[in-house]
Amino acid sequence: MPIMKYRNILAAALAVSLSTALVVIFSFLLPQHAALIISVYFATVILMSFIVLIISKIYNAAKSSVNTVEFIKIAENLNNEFIMWSDDLKFIRLNKQIRDHLGIDSEQFDGAEMLKKVFALESLDENSIGTLTSGSHHAAFKASDGKIINIAWTTSVFKKFKKRCLYLSTGFNYTEIKKMRVNLASANDFFNSSMELAEIGVIMSTDRKKYAASSETVRMFRLKSNSIDIGEFRSLIHPNDRIQFDSAMNSDEEESSDVKKIDLRIRPVGGISYRWYSFRYKSIKATDNTLPLFGGALLDINEEREKDLLIERLAYTDEVTEIANRNRLLSIGHETYNCSLALGYSYWIIVLDIDRFHIVNDTCGYDNGNYILKNFAHILYKFITPGGFAARISGDNFALVLRDYGDDDLPVRTARAISEEFSKLAVDDFASVSLSCSAGFSKLPDDGNSFLDVMEHAEFALKSGSGQPCAICGYEPSMHDSIIGMTELEKALAVAIKNNELQLFYQPKIDLSTGKIMGVEALIRWIKPDGTIITPDSFVPVAERSRLIGKISEFVLNEGCRQNALWQKMGYPNIVMSINFTSGDFYQNDLKERVLDALLRNDLDSDWLEVELTETLALSDINYAVAQMNKLRELGVKLAMDDFGTGYSSLSYLQILPITLLKLDKSFITNIQNDNIAFEIVSAVISIAKSKKIKTIAEGIENREQEEILRKAGCDYGQGYLYGKPMPAEELEKLFPELS
Ligand code: C2E
Ligand code: MG
Ligand code: MG
Repeated sequence: MPIMKYRNILAAALAVSLSTALVVIFSFLLPQHAALIISVYFATVILMSFIVLIISKIYNAAKSSVNTVEFIKIAENLNNEFIMWSDDLKFIRLNKQIRDHLGIDSEQFDGAEMLKKVFALESLDENSIGTLTSGSHHAAFKASDGKIINIAWTTSVFKKFKKRCLYLSTGFNYTEIKKMRVNLASANDFFNSSMELAEIGVIMSTDRKKYAASSETVRMFRLKSNSIDIGEFRSLIHPNDRIQFDSAMNSDEEESSDVKKIDLRIRPVGGISYRWYSFRYKSIKATDNTLPLFGGALLDINEEREKDLLIERLAYTDEVTEIANRNRLLSIGHETYNCSLALGYSYWIIVLDIDRFHIVNDTCGYDNGNYILKNFAHILYKFITPGGFAARISGDNFALVLRDYGDDDLPVRTARAISEEFSKLAVDDFASVSLSCSAGFSKLPDDGNSFLDVMEHAEFALKSGSGQPCAICGYEPSMHDSIIGMTELEKALAVAIKNNELQLFYQPKIDLSTGKIMGVEALIRWIKPDGTIITPDSFVPVAERSRLIGKISEFVLNEGCRQNALWQKMGYPNIVMSINFTSGDFYQNDLKERVLDALLRNDLDSDWLEVELTETLALSDINYAVAQMNKLRELGVKLAMDDFGTGYSSLSYLQILPITLLKLDKSFITNIQNDNIAFEIVSAVISIAKSKKIKTIAEGIENREQEEILRKAGCDYGQGYLYGKPMPAEELEKLFPELS
C-alpha cells in the first residue's frame, strides 16, 4: 500500500532521474550546447511540473466535484432531509425534502439564513458548528405552511479541502412522532383523569410481581409510588379475602380471556378500616410482538355493598322478631327439600298461629303486640333441634322445621310445649289475656312436591283445625276435597259482591206488650241471578275465612242505616235497625269511626241502630270486648247479645257487658211450651236481665202459645216467623200498617 501511495512521487523521481540522465548524456555528447541543454531542461521540468500540478489540481477538483454532485443527485429525492454545506457557507445544497418544508424552489435563497433557520441557530460560527458536529442536534423550525417541523440532525464531515470542510447534515424528521408522543401523553392524562373521575384504579403487570398502578390506584390506597409490589398490596387486603385474591392473581391466561370479577375488602396504606372493591381482572396472552399482560380495575363498591347487605338483611330478616322471614324460610327450605330427597332425610314443618293475636295487639297496643311476637320467636328457637330452623312467615304465623327421626308424636308434642311455654307470658301487662297458639303440620318430603308445597299444606292444616285455641292439626291429603269447594265458593262470592247480588232482608221485632213493631233485624241474603236465595249460614263462614267479610260488613252497616233513615223519611214509625257483627268486624280498632261514619253518611240517629254480638265473640276477650262495646255505647248505639244460651251462658257476664238487649236463642223457644227446663231457664234469665235493666227478646217465636208464655215470663220483645220471616224492604213496608 505505501508503494501505491507514493507511486506518483516514484514515477516523478524516475522521470526526473531519466531526463537528468539524458541531459547529462547529451551535455557530454554536445559540450558546446551543454549550458543551453541544461537551461532548456530545467525550464521544461519547471514548466511540466507546473502543468502537472495544474492538471492534477483540476483532476482532483473534477474528481471531488463529481462525487459531491452524484451524492446530491441521489439525496435529492430521498425522503429524509439532507443538507450539504461548506463551513465557509459558500457551498450549501438542500435536498428537495427540506426545500419543500422551506417552500423554496431551486437556488434562489439565502443559504446561510436557511441553515440557521433549520438548525435553529443564531449564527453559524466555529462554536455552533462544533455543537452541530459533536452529536445529534434537535431543532424545530417553522415550515412555509406554518407547521412546526422537528428534525434530529446528524452532521458529519463529508470532505475536507485544505482548511475548508464540506459537511453533510442528515435529518430525521420526528414531527409526527412528537405529535404522537404529545397525544399519548394527553391520552395518558385523559386516561388518568377519567379513572379519577370514575374512581377506578387500574393495576397492570407483565410479570405478575411488579405492578404499575394508575394514579387513581395510588390515591385510593395511599400508595407511595405507582410501582407496586404485589406482596405489599396483598397485605392491604382483608385476611378473609386473600385466598380469593391469590387465586385471581394466579389465574392462568390460558384458562379464559373473559373478564372476571371478585369483591374484596382493601384498606389504604396506614389505614385500619376496609372498604369493599370490585376487582375486574383479565389476563392477556403474549404474542410474537407483545409481552403477556395481567391486570385489572378496582372500583369502590362500599356503598353499594353496604346497601346490598342491608337489603339482604331486610329481605331475609323479619324486622320485628329479627329471626328469618318467609323469604329466608323458603330459600333454606328449598335446599332442605333437595337435601331430604338426596339423603333420604325427612322433616316436620310445623306452622304456628298465635290464638286471637289481634286481641292482644288491639288491647295491649302494637308495642306489646311486638313484644309478644318477639318472645314467641325466642320460644320457638328453644325448640329448634340440629338441622332445623324457624321463621316468622306472616303477622302472627311462624314456622318451625324439625328433623324427623321417626317420632310421629313430635309435632303435636312440640306445638303443645310451645303453647304451654307461651302461656307463661300472660303476666303483668298481659295478665288479662290468655296466650296460646294453634298449629298445623306436615311432613317433608312426603306431603308435597316442593318445600313451599309442603309448607302450604301445613298452613292449610292449621286453617282446617277446629278454630279453637290450642288446636293442632296434621295435614291429610283428603283435606284438599274441601279446600277446592271453598275456593270455588269464595270466588263466586267475590263476584257476587261485585255484581251487587247481596241484599238485606228484614225480619220484624215486635213489642210483646203492644204487639207493635219496634225494630227489624237486617239479615243478609245472596240472591243469584236465577233468583235462588242463599242464606248466610252457607256463605258467611266462608266470607269470614277470607277477606270478603269486611266488604260484606261494610255493605250491611251502610245499607241498614240507609234503609232505616229512608223509612223514617217515608213517615213510617221510628224503629231500631239491628245488624249482625262478626268477631273480625267487632275487634277492629276503627270500629267506632266506621259506625259513626255510616250514621252520619245516612243521617240516622244512633238511637235507631243496634249491633248484635254473639256471646262467644264477646267473651273471647272480655276486657277488649267491653272496651269496644263502650265505644259503641258512647255513640249511643244499642248493643244486643245474640243467641244467648248457646255459648258460655254465664249470667255473671251480664254485670260486666254494657249490653242493652239480650236475645234468647231460639233453641230455648222452639219447645218452650213443652220443655219445663227451657221455660225455667228463660224465666230466670229474663228476671236477671230485668234486674240489670237489660231488655230481653225471644228469637224463633213461631206460634201464639210461645208468644203468650214469653209475654207472661216478662220478655219484652219477640222475633219469629209468627210476625214475619226475613223479607225484602218493600214487603216489610206493606206489613208496616198492620204492625204499627
Ligand atoms: P241470627 O243473627 O241469630 O239470625 C237469626 C236467624 O234466625 C236468621 O237466620 C233468621 O232467619 C232465623 N229465624 C228468625 N226467626 C225464626 C223462626 O221463627 N224460626 C226459625 N227456624 N228461624 C228463625 P238467617 O237469616 O239464616 O241468619 C243466620 C245467621 O246468619 C244469623 O243468625 C247471623 O248470625 C248470621 N247473619 C245473618 N245476616 C248476617 C249479616 O248481615 N252479617 C253477619 N255477620 N251475620 C249475619
Ligand atoms: Mg242476629
Ligand atoms: Mg240469633
